[in-house]
Amino acid sequence: MTCIFCGIADGSIKSQLIYEDEHVVAFKDLNPQAPTHLLIIPRKHIARLCEADEKDAALLGHILLVAKKLAQQFDLKDFRLVTNNGKGAGQSVDHLHFHMMAGRRFLWPAG
Ligand code: AMP
Repeated sequence: MTCIFCGIADGSIKSQLIYEDEHVVAFKDLNPQAPTHLLIIPRKHIARLCEADEKDAALLGHILLVAKKLAQQFDLKDFRLVTNNGKGAGQSVDHLHFHMMAGRRFLWPAG
């Protein structure tokens, strides 16, 4: 089964790339839900957060630091960083990704 985000990570599927390093890729969401809406993904295929394990600890920490770097790069003081784990939570792509959204007011609790 092909994974669209693996394709984006390896460059075989086009995206609006924002950031990449050895372990992580960030690109613009195709269907933005906020003026700034980026997706941060590991290059490694992990279906969802609950599929990660202790071996992924450094990778998961690195993703958060990439989010911080992007916040600095885009001068985002307020942003929301969220991952949907499972269909019931709204996950539609089975490759771990963090939505980084900014530029509008966000409700809490999230809808
Ligand atoms: P989720 O519903 O949490 O699994 O989020 C998946 C996100 O991926 C959605 O916000 C989609 O708009 C986005 N998406 C799906 N395909 C692409 C793509 N080819 N390029 C950029 N974003 C995409």
